[in-house]
Amino acid sequence: MRPILAALLLVTALRAQVASRHLKVAPGADIPITIIQGRRPGPTLALVAGIHGYEYTPILALQRVRANLSPEALSGTVILVHVANLPSFLKRTIYYGPDGALSERIAHVLTAEVIEKADYLIDLHCGDGNESLRPYSYWMRTGWPSASRTSSSTTSS
Ligand SMILES: [Zn+2]
Repeated sequence: MRPILAALLLVTALRAQVASRHLKVAPGADIPITIIQGRRPGPTLALVAGIHGYEYTPILALQRVRANLSPEALSGTVILVHVANLPSFLKRTIYYGPDGALSERIAHVLTAEVIEKADYLIDLHCGDGNESLRPYSYWMRTGWPSASRTSSSTTSS
């Protein structure tokens, strides 16, 4: 198990567990997460909702994922980031802060504590407010051909 996951779960040997915690950022900006560790070893998938706090659909979707994903049936680990940008969520704005200082701190914690620990990452968004969006997905071309191929094939299927 990756060290960060062990620290968050406070276990080293047990599998098939669910644990919820807050990643510390600042008062009012700590990030609620849930880690679901499967019975069998496998890759780590991070699902991130609430980067834009006014986009409620992914936030609600991860609540359903948490309720319906059984660690007994899972291989690997799933990290659910329920609301990545809590100040944005609470203020019902897409972005938070004119200077970006708190957003930068949130981005740093998310990068260090979630993104760098995951084998796969899906950043969930939707239209906010009264936006009507056509469903779509996209991927990044990276400097790593294998990562680009995996990303492309995952979003295309
Ligand atoms: Zn968004």
